[in-house]
Amino acid sequence: MLRGKTAVVTGGTRGIGFAIVKKYLENGAKVVLFGSRKETVDKALSSLRNENPDWEVDGAYPDLSDARNVEEAIEAVKEKFGRIDILVNNAGISDSTKVDNYEQGQFEKVISLNVNSIFYAIRPTVKIMKEQGGGCIINTSSMVSISGQPGGVAYPTSKFAVNGLTLSLARELGPSNIRVNAVAPGITRTDMVAALPKEMIEPMAAAIPLRRIGEPEDVANAFVFLASDMASYVTGEVLSVDGAMRA
Ligand code: NAD
Repeated sequence: MLRGKTAVVTGGTRGIGFAIVKKYLENGAKVVLFGSRKETVDKALSSLRNENPDWEVDGAYPDLSDARNVEEAIEAVKEKFGRIDILVNNAGISDSTKVDNYEQGQFEKVISLNVNSIFYAIRPTVKIMKEQGGGCIINTSSMVSISGQPGGVAYPTSKFAVNGLTLSLARELGPSNIRVNAVAPGITRTDMVAALPKEMIEPMAAAIPLRRIGEPEDVANAFVFLASDMASYVTGEVLSVDGAMRA
């Protein structure tokens, strides 16, 4: 579904991002994954190359809080692969702090990674996509971007912003043949969730209409669809992948 396309996936070393990278490779794309540290990027790359030596996959670890650093990493992808067809802004951190317990700078840290870094990646990528005649951008939002959540207010705030950015850029960039969408996962079995005891996960799963929490692959499939030509007329969409769990 993605043959001939080049993708950049931020937060691609584990969890949902890693599942996206793998599905993109399985579907014929060339992928550059971004992570936060050299060790985790190298580990992800060697596991993917072991699985299939024919996959064209590379990695980088720009500081996503530094606009210039992100721009250089994006330009390096264009230099090496000649184009960027798909940008997935997936890196993110969550939060569960009660509002009166927030420490100085804690709110800003969540917003910085979950919102500002997306803008830093989009700005140089849009220039490249305009030059090549189009592309697509997919942002990882969350179920809480619709419902809010009690606690960790920085996190839902950041994901509401992701939706706003997605819809607005879809309207701005449509005439340049650049589609912009988001995926809003529900509770998904990544490191964070897998660390929770069974006694906590089971009641959560029981409250979900599909009676299970999501797997990273469930979410990654939506990213394949939205990046593919099957979604050629889909833009400005926030696609829920949450088993109909609405908090
Ligand atoms: P995860 O913690 O397993 O992975 C997060 C990824 O982001 C990692 O690859 C990590 O390297 C990267 N990252 C974190 N901090 C970074 C930093 N400062 N600089 C650069 N990269 C950094 O999390 P996940 O569950 O796979 O989450 C991925 C995305 O999905 C996030 O945007 C998250 O908000 C969203 N999400 C997750 C769930 C869930 O239940 N797991 C639900 C809804 C939305």
